[in-house]
Amino acid sequence: MAAQVQHWHVTYNDIHNLIRKTTPSIAAEFNPDLLIAIGGGGFFPARVMRTFLREQTVNKALQIQAIGLSLYEPVDGVTVEQIGNEVIRTQWLSNPGKQILGKRNLIVDEVDDTRKTLHYALSELQKDVEEELLTYPESERAALRAATSFGIFVVHNKLKDKLAELPAGTPYFSGEEVGDVWLDYPWEATNIEEHDREAAADKAKAS
Ligand code: 5GP
Repeated sequence: MAAQVQHWHVTYNDIHNLIRKTTPSIAAEFNPDLLIAIGGGGFFPARVMRTFLREQTVNKALQIQAIGLSLYEPVDGVTVEQIGNEVIRTQWLSNPGKQILGKRNLIVDEVDDTRKTLHYALSELQKDVEEELLTYPESERAALRAATSFGIFVVHNKLKDKLAELPAGTPYFSGEEVGDVWLDYPWEATNIEEHDREAAADKAKAS
């Protein structure tokens, strides 16, 4: 019989407070110009983060753009080479190169589990940058490339072996590091009062 996965219920307030706590270091160390939310779990965190970023960085227009990715689970084991094939794009930026070139882009998702999704998002966005650069004179490309950067924010990072790596030095922020548990997010709940009761019970059990 398969081992039972341990569940951990997370409330809207938990997420809000993790973002409040983490945003000052994101503002100081990365200072994003654009938030790219991976749907659907990145939508609420990105919206909350914008509220706190606006508090830290006055007069800055901060757009949220959305990309949609979903994981296709292969039957057999996975290799790093297969990663591109396992993540399916359901939505992408309308004019990616133009939207991200020359900006500090913060990719936002709710959870970093195997890291496949983040790896895919980042490498595809980097390809978009390279494609866009081809429309500029060669003499301008290095400066534009240097002005374009990507950072990552996830509400939860699971401490486990990852199936993909991010490029060394990628600015990476997480609200909280957790074990290899299954996180139940409030936006997946159909009965939010019951969800919050389960979250309180999880916390009581853990304390
Ligand atoms: P990864 O590519 O890092 O393995 O997985 C990322 C996606 O898998 C997340 O965006 C999320 O949709 C889903 N996922 C992974 N772990 C969890 C979890 O603990 N709870 C929920 N609700 N979704 C998860």
